[in-house]
Amino acid sequence: MSPNTSILFTNVRVFDSTGSEPFDGEVLVRGERIAEVRRGSGDLPRDGVRVIDGRGQFLMSGLCDAHTHFSWIDSADLPGLGRLGVEEHTLLSAKSALTYLNCGYTMCVGAAAAKPRLDVVIRNAINDGLIPGPRYLANCQEIAVTGGELVDGITAFADGPEEMRKQVRRNVAYGADLVKLSMSGEEITGNKHAEDNYFSDEEVLAATTEAHRRGLRVCTHARSAESVKMSLRNDVDIVYHASFIDDEGMDMLEAKKDEVFVAPGLNWLVATLHDAAGFGYPPEAAEAAGYKHELECAIAGLQEMRRRGIRVLPGGDYGFAWTPHGTYARDLQHFVDLLGYTPMETLLAATKLGGEIMRMPDELGQIRPGFLADMILVDGDPLQDITVLQNRDNISAIMKGGSFHKDPDGSGLGRTSSLTERPVIVS
Ligand SMILES: [Zn+2]
Repeated sequence: MSPNTSILFTNVRVFDSTGSEPFDGEVLVRGERIAEVRRGSGDLPRDGVRVIDGRGQFLMSGLCDAHTHFSWIDSADLPGLGRLGVEEHTLLSAKSALTYLNCGYTMCVGAAAAKPRLDVVIRNAINDGLIPGPRYLANCQEIAVTGGELVDGITAFADGPEEMRKQVRRNVAYGADLVKLSMSGEEITGNKHAEDNYFSDEEVLAATTEAHRRGLRVCTHARSAESVKMSLRNDVDIVYHASFIDDEGMDMLEAKKDEVFVAPGLNWLVATLHDAAGFGYPPEAAEAAGYKHELECAIAGLQEMRRRGIRVLPGGDYGFAWTPHGTYARDLQHFVDLLGYTPMETLLAATKLGGEIMRMPDELGQIRPGFLADMILVDGDPLQDITVLQNRDNISAIMKGGSFHKDPDGSGLGRTSSLTERPVIVS
């Protein structure tokens, strides 16, 4: 598609992610950006413009997943990812990127890659137009201290401030946008508990200082109360999980709410409790391991974060066996059903806050003139029923940067014919 192409969406309900109620209107796209947004119809030029009749459908920003693992491939064998050939792994990661875009996700934040360069290579290939995928912030392998790794074979190690600096410098050299520190445990490991703390303040501060000096941000796997506070004390930018945050941590978080983002990855807890039986992890085992207790604590903490206006984003840990790719919008339902967010608040968290966490708050996540034209047309009203976004067939058009990935005229998914989402068996 030529960058000069103009496309006019008419007869759409515009959800612009400014906080306003949706309105009937028109949106004109010129090149890769939104040129005009108007209430009503008939105002905007039609000469030389492709006009799309939205038939009253819901036009909104593309969605953001704030905790993405392209290189997880729907397997329960995470250590196996370390043994998977890099060539196969690259292709499967490309498939994950495609699946995100097919589901209406145009923004993703990498929360660790299983091999050092996978995320960077996929991000670059997307940006170069080689493969379809969302806009992406790339990570490298998550960094653990000796004995603190959650998954052997896909982790980088560093002990002490000097080694932390060195690992961060590796991320810089690889071209990553982010650094991930694995600061607490995870019950499913059996011996690394969610309330364990593996890092020292000196190590975290060395990582954040070095990362920030080079323009990277730091995110943390932080389930325990102490790991959340250690993250906040030492200038971490994105806190993942935060399940066991305590009162002191909540106050620290509130004091930094304009700087820090939280992404709980709630579906991991929900699915591990309810959907893992078919993979040999029945609800009784998950509950005995502590996941029910963790989910209850996480919900209480996240409800308090909502009350305090802390920026909490949906997304997280899809690509595991019982959290397969393509089910990303379950997170949005959890915000409504478990956390007490209104559907409006949930959509804002998935769009406007997405633009903010991508560090493009004036270009992504809203439908306003001058913003990049990353939009989805939804056959259904997510404000009435947030679950409509879980079925990708309800997303009748997907546009990224002014080009259709999924064209509303029914010509199917744009440049995706050579890549399918069929499950791939890797031995
Ligand atoms: Zn994760």
